[in-house]
Amino acid sequence: MRALILKLAHHPSVERFVRGSRLFRGLVRRFIAGDDLQTALRVSEELAQRGLLVTLDNLGENTTTVEEAQAAKETYIAMLRAIAQSPAAESTNISIKLTQCGLDLDVDLAKRVLEEVLDVAAEHRNFVRVDMESSAYVDRTLDIMEAVFSQRKNTGTVLQSYLRRTPQDLERLLRLGMRIRLVKGAYLEPPEIAFPRKSDVDRAYVEQTERLLKSGLYHAIATHDERIIRHAQEFAHREGIPKDAFEFQMLYGIRRDLQESLAADGYRVRVYVPFGDRWYPYFTRRLAERPANVLFILKAIFRG
Ligand SMILES: Cc1cc2nc3c(=O)[nH]c(=O)nc-3n(C[C@H](O)[C@H](O)[C@H](O)COP(=O)(O)OP(=O)(O)OC[C@H]3O[C@@H](n4cnc5c(N)ncnc54)[C@H](O)[C@@H]3O)c2cc1C
Repeated sequence: MRALILKLAHHPSVERFVRGSRLFRGLVRRFIAGDDLQTALRVSEELAQRGLLVTLDNLGENTTTVEEAQAAKETYIAMLRAIAQSPAAESTNISIKLTQCGLDLDVDLAKRVLEEVLDVAAEHRNFVRVDMESSAYVDRTLDIMEAVFSQRKNTGTVLQSYLRRTPQDLERLLRLGMRIRLVKGAYLEPPEIAFPRKSDVDRAYVEQTERLLKSGLYHAIATHDERIIRHAQEFAHREGIPKDAFEFQMLYGIRRDLQESLAADGYRVRVYVPFGDRWYPYFTRRLAERPANVLFILKAIFRG
């Protein structure tokens, strides 16, 4: 079902339908904080008041010109400056995508953009997370991260447990001392590259969570899977790992109850808050994660 939704979503007529249909508007609003940075900052402040941390994501991926990559850089820098002026400055960082920085055009361009963004983040003592995209980008992302991290420590990236290669990548990043966000993985990948069975992904995720928690570095366990979250809590407790030695991360609009209850229990919880008008690819990945979201809409369509 997940693969089917991701495949269908690429079809231009499906995209036109989703973008134009009122039926999807409520769901889009559930997952996307708003169209502009001001709205996203207001959301950050509200979340900060509820004891939650935030990472802001300016939606967009796969830039095709140098000008677009430069524009993405300016947007990221503007975000960092605006965060520094906002009441949620202490609790908000940003997440960025290297394809938005021009990775498809030129690896060196994407690396230079990242370095400039990190330098501005460092002026404001902030941190930049580099999201992980589809498997075609993993080598280039890790190579850029390794090169950049040798000079600039205010960054970290993401590993996806569904990839068969992840145990090796995880050891590579731990040797560097880099902070990792662990996710299950959101893209459509062939079985040679990613585990097709959810039970294998979940098992890998649990093993990798334990490895990260025991590493002594500050990592992010990014999942809404309550069973895995409980396991991480119990494991950390058993190993004597303090609650502030890692953070949980969840997406805006998903399991708000769990976000708040973990924060109330003294855990650090960061919410990934996407904003902007280029929401379609992000939105379709959220739909595919939970086919019930789509069934809900189909029922509404057939009900007339
Ligand atoms: C902070 C954060 C950052 C991320 N960054 C990346 C990244 O850089 N690269 C990448 O490939 N992926 C990223 N992801 C997405 C991730 O790979 C998964 O696709 C996503 O988190 C769903 O998996 P899960 O761990 O919640 O587990 P699942 O087993 O998919 O879900 C567990 C439970 O969570 C709830 N849930 C999960 N998804 C939804 C949804 N869409 N709608 C409603 N309920 C839902 C349901 O109750 C479900 O039963 C990120 C996720 C988070 C939380």
